Amino acid sequence: MQNSDYDVVVVGAGPAGLLTAREAAGMGCSVLVLEEHEEVGRPEKCAGLFSISGLKMLNVPLSHSYVQNVVRGAVFFSPSGRSFVLDAKRPVAIVSNREMFDKFLAQQATLKGAEVVTGEAVVRIIPSDEMPSVKTSNNLTFAKMVVDAEGRSGFLARYVWKGWKPKGWIPIIQAVVENHQMDKDFVYLYFKEYLKDFFAYLVPIDDNLGKLGVAARKDTKRSFSRFLQEEFKHARILSTTSASIYTGPPLELHQNGKVLAVGDVAGHVKATTGGGVIYGGLCAIETGRYIANFLLKGTGIREYQESMNKIRAQLKSIYRLRVLISQIPPKSYDHIFKAASDVHLDKWLSIKGDMDRHGDTVKAMLKSGMALKLLTRAIFQALKDALGIP
Ligand SMILES: Cc1cc2nc3c(=O)[nH]c(=O)nc-3n(C[C@H](O)[C@H](O)[C@H](O)COP(=O)(O)OP(=O)(O)OC[C@H]3O[C@@H](n4cnc5c(N)ncnc54)[C@H](O)[C@@H]3O)c2cc1C
Repeated sequence: MQNSDYDVVVVGAGPAGLLTAREAAGMGCSVLVLEEHEEVGRPEKCAGLFSISGLKMLNVPLSHSYVQNVVRGAVFFSPSGRSFVLDAKRPVAIVSNREMFDKFLAQQATLKGAEVVTGEAVVRIIPSDEMPSVKTSNNLTFAKMVVDAEGRSGFLARYVWKGWKPKGWIPIIQAVVENHQMDKDFVYLYFKEYLKDFFAYLVPIDDNLGKLGVAARKDTKRSFSRFLQEEFKHARILSTTSASIYTGPPLELHQNGKVLAVGDVAGHVKATTGGGVIYGGLCAIETGRYIANFLLKGTGIREYQESMNKIRAQLKSIYRLRVLISQIPPKSYDHIFKAASDVHLDKWLSIKGDMDRHGDTVKAMLKSGMALKLLTRAIFQALKDALGIP
């Protein structure tokens, strides 16, 4: 039988691939990570907003090398401009330089013994129950397990998981702007009638610079220009990038011929925000741990399935919440925001809310009666408006 070159080959040096590698290497596996770009983290296409609690779960320490800003809350704007402020009055999230964040993770993985090779594009993953392999233009590398962490592309996944074709990707334009004139301690989310699929955001890097994003299935460029004109007339664009974010449910990509998938390619993304670093990272850590346990001790399948099912359940409930939010008529945002202030939802969320576990937060709102209070108040507001009562 063919000898394996490595215990694990990971395709893609994004957060999901690197955290899988860090975990498996840290537990004693020989790990090779192949990255098609010449440098880890480039090109950068991310707002880099991560919860501090999420980074703790990933066991990624905060470092000056990648932290650009620390935020304590969010401001939501309705289509008519009414705002709802969520101020936790303590640091809840960081804004990162994503290139430096990925480089930091690569350093963590290599310190644990993983080998990270850049400038090596994988052209095919060949599944096998005995010894899967990974093909580049020059090499065929055999491994006991292969992890597909290629991100959005899905170029390799569609051969391994026939019919891989997730719906739920939305085009997004993100720009680095200067002179945003907003308080750097918050992030800003704008709901607009013409942004039916998602929202626009400003994630400040400091008092002057920020990352401004607009996602829309159709007319993304036009929507971006319109948003900029409406909300950030005085800002100057320094650079722009086009990409996509995933807003669908997690995919059921089960192990195929000792090949596993983690991160964006498997839909390990918060559908409400398109943020995939924390959930992709959690799945990656579980996957790296499982691979090491399986290869070195022959155990761990049941635990892996249980923990992945728990994460998938969270992602599914976040996806259901997104579907629900997408059905809210734009006009109702005013009523909901007013009602949210009236019932002090901001204070409630600052104590009980969780930036990553939106599904659990909604469940807690339902259990505590906060959801009912909010709904009653919003209906009351809508009725008052409809009847012209001030
Ligand atoms: C504009 C924008 C803003 C975002 N903002 C946030 C945010 O604020 N917070 C958040 O959590 N998430 C955010 N996201 C989402 C986040 O970027 C992704 O969820 C995350 O990068 C997924 O990580 P990953 O490792 O699965 O994939 P990626 O980060 O895409 O990494 C995949 C890697 O695989 C490499 N690769 C691909 N194909 C091959 C191949 N054939 N051979 C070798 N290498 C290959 C790629 O070059 C890449 O380096 C944002 C996304 C966008 C587009």
